[in-house]
Amino acid sequence: MTRFIFITGGVVSSLGKGLASASLGALLQGRGFKVRLRKLDPYLNVDPGTMSPSQHGEVYVTEDGAETDLDLGHYERFTGVTTRRSDNVTTGRIYSTVIAAERRGDYLGATVQVIPHVTDKIKEFIQAEPEDADFMICEIGGTVGDIESLPFLEAIRQLGNELGPKRVMFIHLTLVPYISSAGEMKTKPTQHSVKELLSVGIQADLLLCRCDRPVPPPERRKIALFCNVREERVIPAIDVDTIYQVPINCHPEGLDREVCRHFGLDSATEPDVANWRRIIDIIRAPEGAVAIAVVGKYTRLLDSYKSLAEALGHGGIANRVRVELQWIDSEVFEKEDAVDYLEDVHGILVPGGFGERGAQGKIEAARFARERKVPYFGICFGMQMAVIEAARNLAGLPGAGSTEFGPCQDPVVGLLTEWTRGNEVERRGPGSDLGGTMRLGAYPCRLAPGSKIHGIYGKLELSERHRHRYEVNINYLPILEKAGLVFSGMSPEGHLPEIVELPGHPWFIGVQFHPELKSRPFDPHPLFISFIEAAVHQARLV
Ligand code: GLN
Repeated sequence: MTRFIFITGGVVSSLGKGLASASLGALLQGRGFKVRLRKLDPYLNVDPGTMSPSQHGEVYVTEDGAETDLDLGHYERFTGVTTRRSDNVTTGRIYSTVIAAERRGDYLGATVQVIPHVTDKIKEFIQAEPEDADFMICEIGGTVGDIESLPFLEAIRQLGNELGPKRVMFIHLTLVPYISSAGEMKTKPTQHSVKELLSVGIQADLLLCRCDRPVPPPERRKIALFCNVREERVIPAIDVDTIYQVPINCHPEGLDREVCRHFGLDSATEPDVANWRRIIDIIRAPEGAVAIAVVGKYTRLLDSYKSLAEALGHGGIANRVRVELQWIDSEVFEKEDAVDYLEDVHGILVPGGFGERGAQGKIEAARFARERKVPYFGICFGMQMAVIEAARNLAGLPGAGSTEFGPCQDPVVGLLTEWTRGNEVERRGPGSDLGGTMRLGAYPCRLAPGSKIHGIYGKLELSERHRHRYEVNINYLPILEKAGLVFSGMSPEGHLPEIVELPGHPWFIGVQFHPELKSRPFDPHPLFISFIEAAVHQARLV
């Protein structure tokens, strides 16, 4: 039997609902339960695939090729449960399904309305493919009180009523601010937010109170009294310096215990948080530090590269060093000398990206890394830029470029027009829709025996997640290989270059996929372990 836990947020956004959901998932797993986590987003985009990372943060790609909210990354990293397309839905997708059904005539002449048709679709989504999950944790995006989240709240209210409290629990994450002029913590925003939720028919069963210091017992009692929640279910969620502290903090406060009590599962075993502690010990007492420059375009909003930052951190944990990230907007290299920014770093990473703006700066970063023998990690766009750099400066093709930026003399990176997914051939043209049409999700790749990448993975076949529309043009492989690059990973049928490396350089690897999406704190990705290890060597040299 699957039980549903709905997590809503109040007062302000960015309180960490995603991390709270992921932490609860991990704690329930620690008690021996199977969990799935889902996110319901109230915006009108069908998925976040077409949204700018500077506005919405990273687009997290699932194994089955869905472009989803970055919170799904937290879910995977904290619980190890592989997310799927069915784990993220938006108002846009719900409405487009309802409208398509209406056009087909599925509603048999009925007037199609938010209640029941839209709310029915939402409930269908929430309950789809639960498989053997004991708990389905559903995070509702947005903040209670927003107009756009109303249909979601109505749907979960209905579900609470239909399935009853033995199968449904409502958790509300709120803010308990400390007002320094009064020298007090204030409970009023929480009271208002809980009331707002009650006005749509939902009584919170448990409150997670985000705060910057412990909530004193009188305030806790006050929240319990005014919000109609038992005192032991008013759970403080204190600010932390590392996200891996969240499960460790939530457990002694009784989060997982109270959830189990709500469902009458008191006898469940206690979770062991020792493995989280081990990670934190390394983070707090590293044996050294390395500086990594991340040269990208969306450097102003750190959420744009969420999984990347996490994966680099995992590489640091594996090597017992602190990874200091220097976010550099690649456009600066178009006006200023890269040396001024990159001279002292121990590794350079050019991440995924889109469009011509800033591309030249990324090419400069790749050139600097190649010439100065600084470890270089190119991911997706970062691989493509490294190949263009080598084509221009090693292979004697000054007119080399990517057709992503328009026609060029030597299109060493070109539009991916045909590829196979399983037994199916996927085809695209320049006029295809932008949303959901890239080469997305997990694809296999074969490695060249004896290559550096083979040594890193320790196997000859791998599967990684993709999200790109362009690829290295296979026609240029002979000339690029003659110039010194080695394409050490190819798609199984041999058409798509997946990995490039530069022998004779301490660490120069470009990958067409996104390894950061699969790195986990308890299972750091081999490429990130190896890259940070190379940076540690580099740090000893400089
Ligand atoms: N813009 C490039 C492409 O579509 C790279 C995409 C990426 O880095 N994710 O191929």
